[in-house]
Amino acid sequence: MGVSKRYKNAVSQLGRVCSDAGRDVQEVTLVAVSKTVGMREVAQAIEAGARDFGENRPDQLMEKADHFPDVNWHFIGNIQSRRIRDIVGRACLIHSLHKLQHAEKINQCAQEQGIVQDVLLEVNVSGEESKSGLTPIDVGPMLDACNSLENISVRGLMTMAPQGDEHAVRATFEGLAKLHGELRARMPRKQAEQFTELSMGMSEDWPIAVEFGATFVRIGRAIFSDEF
Ligand SMILES: *Cc1c(COP(=O)(O)O)cnc(C)c1O
Repeated sequence: MGVSKRYKNAVSQLGRVCSDAGRDVQEVTLVAVSKTVGMREVAQAIEAGARDFGENRPDQLMEKADHFPDVNWHFIGNIQSRRIRDIVGRACLIHSLHKLQHAEKINQCAQEQGIVQDVLLEVNVSGEESKSGLTPIDVGPMLDACNSLENISVRGLMTMAPQGDEHAVRATFEGLAKLHGELRARMPRKQAEQFTELSMGMSEDWPIAVEFGATFVRIGRAIFSDEF
């Protein structure tokens, strides 16, 4: 089975999962994570209908976004200060912001480009030491700090679940959704209208994330690997 078939299977599965969860499929964007593949596979996915792609390295983001400028590119990787300039403006959404100093630099680069950069705050819900992200209690203060930056718009939250243990996966996605709801409830209306997104779920666990309200699922191997 090739990229095209696997992408189409993922789309139809997304439709079924949404309908089982009583959700409108339009609310959920499938981000095809192309970090392990090249231009040929990206072209095949576009041909099959994919419009949103995720990359975790600035070099790959630059190369692919410049080659395929008509689709949306998401940055989902570790942010390094010196590479922020390459990400801002190319990425329609940065999913992995969790440091104030990076927020300030993103804001500065966005200002220079005359744009507002959409971002999500990455949260380490499960508390695993190997995972990056803000601890849940630090998200509120980080949001307040980002709100004073005019060229950044915080659109929501992102997390990664622990691998393997379904109970822990559910607790993580439920925890992110709950935190999102609590933060949103105490925002001024204008800010709450922007703060609508939940990026959670990967190849192994995205149907569970959709149950808990994901608006972006980030699917790599299930589309691009024939070993998944
Ligand atoms: C690689 C990656 C994914 C996709 O993972 P798969 O298991 O290949 O679906 C999603 N999110 C992030 C942050 C990633 O780095």
